[in-house]
This record gives sequence, structure tokens and C-alpha cells, in this order.
Amino acid sequence: MPVSTPAARAAAPAPSPSDTAMPQDFGALLRQDPEIGGILLAETARQSSTLQLIAAENFTSPAVLAALGSPLVNKYAEGYPGARYHGGCEQADAVERAAVRRAMSLFGAEHANVQPHSGSSAVLAAYAALLRPGDTVLAMGLPYGGHLTHGAPGNFSGRWFDFAGYGVDPDSGLIDYAQVRALARARRPKAIVCGSISYPRHPDYEQFRDIADEAGAYLIADAAHPMGLIAGGAAPSPVPYADVVCATTHKVLRGPRGGMILCGVELSERIDRAVFPFTQGGAQMHTVAAKAVAFGEAATPGYTVYAHRVVAHARVLAAALEAEGFEITTGGTDTHIVVADPAPLGVDGRAARERLMAAGMVLDTCALPYGDARGLRLGTAAVTTQGMDEDDMARIAVLFGAAVRDEGDAGLLRAEVRGLAERNPPYAG
Ligand SMILES: *Cc1c(COP(=O)(O)O)cnc(C)c1O
Repeated sequence: MPVSTPAARAAAPAPSPSDTAMPQDFGALLRQDPEIGGILLAETARQSSTLQLIAAENFTSPAVLAALGSPLVNKYAEGYPGARYHGGCEQADAVERAAVRRAMSLFGAEHANVQPHSGSSAVLAAYAALLRPGDTVLAMGLPYGGHLTHGAPGNFSGRWFDFAGYGVDPDSGLIDYAQVRALARARRPKAIVCGSISYPRHPDYEQFRDIADEAGAYLIADAAHPMGLIAGGAAPSPVPYADVVCATTHKVLRGPRGGMILCGVELSERIDRAVFPFTQGGAQMHTVAAKAVAFGEAATPGYTVYAHRVVAHARVLAAALEAEGFEITTGGTDTHIVVADPAPLGVDGRAARERLMAAGMVLDTCALPYGDARGLRLGTAAVTTQGMDEDDMARIAVLFGAAVRDEGDAGLLRAEVRGLAERNPPYAG
């Protein structure tokens, strides 16, 4: 179970990683292909002996893994249910219809497209549906936590569109809505994007809607990170405000790697055509099945408990890291993300990450809202799925501080991190 209290366990019918046996039998693969089988075993061991603090990662359930490993992987199903370019799509149609129905119901959306291969593919399709090359788009600037698809020079978005970037207030770290409005007035964007890879607070969707309306712009919410919190009622939903909501299914949402798009009926045909045939060919139907399974799990009371615990854990972690001397951007978090600046400890972000990795704590560096230094981005989605509690979060912060300060015996530190991970196995057996 993602949650460890007996009451929460009773409220949570869906199976989950930590109380169900690992579904995969690597034996046959190991015999046929020892090289790849061995790599997969080693990766499984890595995931269960280190702490997964990468904010974009999680542990999918055995049911999601089973759907991913099913023979539906063999099926070609270009098009949409009832209108395929291939024969034999009865089950593919059934599974996609179920995934769409579940996504619409989970998020209260009028339309869902569950085919995007990734979060980036979802954003590409949203731009393709609403924009023409050269159009101006306003999004969070990359130095403040904008994603690659929000105008990075090496990404299609930066090459094909004219991006303007908004930032955050350097003191509070919060989005400066007056600046967003002023930029929208000055640049008259065709679309405004809200959503980020490292902003630990909720975007104010109502304000973004208001600014977009004033500018005559579409509002695209890129909710790749918080979509699971939204499903579990632990974060506000952009669905009532945004014209299009893009997301991944593999972050807090805990499904397979992939993307999805939600929109109203009036944009539904444009979105569907932008996904197929404009930006993608055949959908990955095994992944669509796994998305349906994940949406089913996310609709359970147990998942609601999980989503709220993820946020509670991030708050405990942020406060405990602050007590260890880290500077926490925005002074805390409303989400699963915590951004900690190690500068007060006299260590820069990249060096800090190396020390943490050596101790078995796996995480990313990220841009900080001020200056050029890198911060440390942590997330609590994976550690919460594996059953850790608030005391474990407080302990992680202490281990974190010791690792970054390079204090004590490195071997003992690594052993304690391993012990913490191994007491909470993501997959039993
Ligand atoms: C993760 C993320 C994406 C992209 O997801 P991929 O599946 O890696 O392509 C897009 N936008 C935001 C804000 C993200 O956090």
C-alpha cells in the first residue's frame, strides 16, 4: 500500500507495489539473454536499495506493469476507437474507450486523448492544435522552472515558436502575476502556458485564465507534475480554467510512461487530429491499457489518501531540510516538490548532488529563481508509494544534511540510506 496506517490500508482496495509480489519473472529472460536480463535485475536492485527522490518518478503497481507487459504491445491501432486503419482492433478499441472514459471521469473533463507517447508529445500536439509556426507563446522562463517544451532553444518549441518567458519574484520565489499580465499585454501571445518542472506551489489558474482572456490567448495548463495530486484531490484542477490540459501519466499519477490531453468538446477534434495523424502514428495500446489501469487505481479512496500524504510528506521534508540549514525556495511547498538551495551549507548544487548520490539518495539539480547557482529538486511521490511515513521524511532530511556537509562516515551513511529503502520495498519478493 502507498500508505502505512491500518485505517488507510482498509480504505484502499487497489493493489500497490509494496504489498504485492513483483509480477515479473526474470528467469526466462535471464536464461535467454543474460546481458539484458542482468541489467534489468540490477536496475530493480538499484531502485530498491537507494532512495528515489527524483520528483518526476514513482513506482507503478504490479497491475500497471502487467498491462505494459501484455500482448496488446503487438497490436497496431492507428486512428481512434471505431475508426481504425487496421483490422482486429476490437480489444484495442475497448481498452482505449475505457481509458478515455476513466480519464474524463477522474478529472471531470469533456474530452480526453490518451494516446500521446509522452508529456512532450502531449504539449507538441496541443501547440499543433492551437498554433501556427512563428506564433508567440508566453510560458514560464526556463531559468525559473519552465520545461524544455516551453521554449528551450534545442527543443521544437524554441525553434518553431516565438516564446516569451515570465519569471518569479526573486524574494518570494512566487509567480509575479503582474509581470505575466504586463508581458501578455505587450506581446499579445496566441497561447499562455502555465505549469513547471520545479515550481513547488500551485499556479493560480483563475488568474491565468483572466490574463489569457484579456490577451485573447488560449490557456494551456501543462500539469505533467501535479496531475496525480489533482486526481487525488490534493491540488486544484486546471480543467475548469484551461482550454487544454497536458499531462504525463507517470509522475505522481503513478501510471506508465506516457502523456494525455484533456479539453472541452469544442477543441476535441482539433486535439485528436493533432495527436494522430499530425504528430504521431499508431498509439501504444499496451501503454493505453496501463493508463486505464492507473486511472482506475487513482479513482480509489486509497489513492486520495496517498495524494494527500505525498503533499504532507513534502511539507515535513521542506521544514526538516530548512532546519538542516538549506534554503527552501518559496519557503515551503504545496505539492510533492521541494527545491532546496545548499548554498548556506557552503556547497554548490552540483557538488551536493554528487555527495547525495554517493550516499544513495537519487535526485536532480534544478534552476533556482535567483542567480545562476543550481538547487536540489526533490519529490516525495516514490518514497510515499513505498510506504514511508513522516518520521522517515524527517530522517531523510538529517541524512541529506550529513551527506551534503560530508559529515561522518560515508559507509555508515550509505548503509543507513540502504536500510531505510530496504525496510520499505517498492516491490515485495
Ligand atoms: C515531465 C514534464 C513534461 C514532459 O514529459 P516527458 O514525458 O518527459 O516528455 C512536460 N512538461 C512538464 C511541465 C513536465 O514536468
